[in-house]
Parts: sequence; structure tokens; C-alpha cells
Amino acid sequence: ARAASAGQQKECVKVAVNIRPLITSELLMGCADCVTVVPGEPQVQIGSHSFTYDHVYGSSGTPHSLIFQECVAPLTDALFNGYNATVLAYGQTGSGKTYTMGTNYASEANCGGIIPQVMETIFKKTEAMKDTTEILLRVSFIEIFKEEVFDLLDPHLHASLRAEGPAGAKPAVAPRVPIQIRETANGGITLSGVVEAEVRSKEEMASYLARGSLSRATGSTNMNSQSSRSHAIFTICLEQKKINTCSSNVAISDELGDDIISAKLHLVDLAGSERAKRTGADGLRLKEACISPADSNAEETLNTLKYANRAR
Ligand code: ADP
Ligand code: MG
Repeated sequence: ARAASAGQQKECVKVAVNIRPLITSELLMGCADCVTVVPGEPQVQIGSHSFTYDHVYGSSGTPHSLIFQECVAPLTDALFNGYNATVLAYGQTGSGKTYTMGTNYASEANCGGIIPQVMETIFKKTEAMKDTTEILLRVSFIEIFKEEVFDLLDPHLHASLRAEGPAGAKPAVAPRVPIQIRETANGGITLSGVVEAEVRSKEEMASYLARGSLSRATGSTNMNSQSSRSHAIFTICLEQKKINTCSSNVAISDELGDDIISAKLHLVDLAGSERAKRTGADGLRLKEACISPADSNAEETLNTLKYANRAR
């Protein structure tokens, strides 16, 4: 009942919890699974606490492979109907946000993440519509680090030391220049000069994702796990215009100017929640909270589950 359906303007937030399996390092440390899922229910138990969400994946909940189908495919459909949507991955560092989002997607070998599946779906749809609709797809990829916004697709971006390196140490390369945030007349905000790259194929879109992820990763080599301290936002902007089959109508439809549908899908890999600040995201439709099942992380997992519970 909470699903966003076409024609329903109301904003809504859905929360899905994704429990990754214990990883080798946790098993080697002798960690045990401290999270249980109530069979057949989107309900998670940790210690004496119990929480209910829209969906629970992993462990003995629904299989991971259904996340895209159940949570994100409806948002991809909504994008084509002119709705903006956001998918946020929230959780502590190491809980599986990047894995689940597929932010580091590089090849078909790791195509199971949300972003690769979104790309696949979008290009299947555009291919099926190409005879009737002109489609323009653009992507941007930004990083928010310490309240500053950086353009991960900036061609001049150089991997650089952060200005706040060890005391007295000079950055080897000039620090990255943050993007200017401007308020618009109608109360919105714009990021001036952010690259919005036009893409015509899934491969091209994937190459921008890879380029941006690399910029993010490279920036982190000099600073302890910087990627866990920054938010990464990959945005897909879709513009559609019905192709006029009757040429005499061109002037009329141009004059009306209301036949362009434009919407954005934001795919967000948040900073580790153990340090994250509130991020006032607007119009968000889905929050995905990722959790580790290891008992060594129980306290952070409980925090994440509590936060995700409030997000509904
Ligand atoms: P985060 O981005 O939240 O810091 P990562 O996505 O980097 O976490 O995941 C941490 C580790 O857990 C990685 O080694 C990743 O491969 C592994 N991992 C995460 N989710 C899963 C999953 N669903 N199945 C198997 N391994 C996973
Ligand atoms: Mg990550």
C-alpha cells in the first residue's frame, strides 16, 4: 500500500533491510550471527529488540536477488512516468552498501548490484520506445565530503591529498575544488558546473560510473578510507519527447511545450552511518539500510535498525 504508483503524487518512503552474510574475516574472528529474521515476515530481531520494515533481505529473509525487482524496478518505471526518486544505502562501514548499490560495478562479472540493474532496465526500455519517443539520458556523479560537493566526473579532477593532511604536510597536488552550491529563485538548489554527461548506451553510462568511482577511490588513497566518510550520488536524468509522426503538428506541440517529460533518479551510497550526519535529502522514495549480521557489530546494527525504523 505504500508503493508509489503513477498518478499518486504523494511522496513516500519505503525501508528495506539487507542483511549480508558473515564475511570470511568475521568468520575467522569467530563472530556469530546476532540478527534473526522472523520467517515469512519483514521483521528483524536483535537481542530483545524487534523491528518491522517494508522488506527484509538476506539471512533467512527474502533472497538478496529480489531487492532490485521489488524495491528499485518500480522506481525505474516511475522515472519513465516523470517521477523523481531516490535510493539511499544507509549503514555502517562494511555492512554492504557499496556491494548492494553496485557503485563499484566494472564488468558483467559484478552486475548484480542495484545500479547495474537500473542501467540494464533503462536501456531495455529506451530501446523498446525508440520508434515513438526521443530520449535524452544524462548522468552526473558527485561526492559530498565534509559538507563540500565534488564533481567525480570533472575531467580536470586530479587525485589529491586532502587539505587536512597530517599537520605540516603539504598536499602533493592542489586540493580539489568544490562545486558551488547555489539557491534558485524557487527555493531549490543547483550545483553550478556539475558535469551532466549525455549517454547513449549502457556501456557508456557504466564507463561514467567507473570513472567516478575511480576518482572517489583514488582520492582516498592518501586519507584513511575516505570513501567511507563521503556520500556518493550517481544521478540519472531522463528526458522524453514523443516523436511527432504528423509533421503539421510540430509547430503546435512546440508552442505548447508541455510534451517533454523530465525526471531524475538518484542512487546514493551514503557515508558509513557510524559517522554520517543527517543529509536532508528531498523527495526520497526508498531507503535501503544495510546491516552486518556479526555480533561484533551488534551495537551499530541496532543503531541502523532503529534509524531505519524511524525513517518510515
Ligand atoms: P560498505 O560499502 O557498507 O562499507 P561493502 O559494500 O564494501 O560495505 O561490503 C563490505 C564487505 O562485505 C565486502 O568485502 C563485500 O564484498 C562484502 N559483502 C557485502 N554485501 C555482501 C553480500 N550480500 N554477499 C556477500 N558479500 C557481501
Ligand atoms: Mg562503501
